[in-house]
Amino acid sequence: MKHVWIALGSNLGDRADLLARAVALLAEAGVSPLAVSHLYETLPEHGRDEPLYINAVVHAETPLEPRALLQLLQQVERRLGRSPVERSGPRTCDLDLLAVDDLRAEEPDLTLPHPRLHHRPFVLVPLCELDPNWRPPGFRETVSELLAALDTEPGETCLYGCLELAEPVANAYPWRHRAGPCHHDDAQTGAEGGP
Ligand code: ADP
Ligand code: MG
Repeated sequence: MKHVWIALGSNLGDRADLLARAVALLAEAGVSPLAVSHLYETLPEHGRDEPLYINAVVHAETPLEPRALLQLLQQVERRLGRSPVERSGPRTCDLDLLAVDDLRAEEPDLTLPHPRLHHRPFVLVPLCELDPNWRPPGFRETVSELLAALDTEPGETCLYGCLELAEPVANAYPWRHRAGPCHHDDAQTGAEGGP
């Protein structure tokens, strides 16, 4: 079994439901969640004029090889309505492979760890919640040090709520949020359980 970290994001449609469905589809396909972060509502990158995102990170275990896992992530994105041509810009579901065990890869279609992981508060905030002391493969810094080094704006990453898994996935993987949501200096907290 490999340990994998997957970043989820959505800024179109019922964002929280789309992310819960993504986790359920991944679980059905052999990516078993071990821990799931809270949901965070975040500003689009680079000040882009598009709807707010909801982001989360899942730590899971799977027998799938990295390339098969990437294909599965793309299949789930398509199933949840993401068109294969859109790159940046609004999307129903974006699934990024952040890391697989301690692997490092530099291939045209797969870079591990994910090449923009350390620039993104919407990835580092949920990662810090899962384990602030985790060091992505090849990094000297922990995710909490990487987050502290970012120049983020207030309100860039706000607590939105819990990821609500539907049955039977919720029963099959009765994980709980291990920690409270991450209180990054610039993260504003909202009500537990979502609006
Ligand atoms: P982003 O998530 O950076 O906004 P996209 O999801 O549109 O952009 O990018 C997907 C492309 O990135 C795919 O062509 C995929 O092959 C490539 N890619 C390389 N490494 C990874 C990775 N670790 N996780 C997800 N996609 C990756
Ligand atoms: Mg992506």
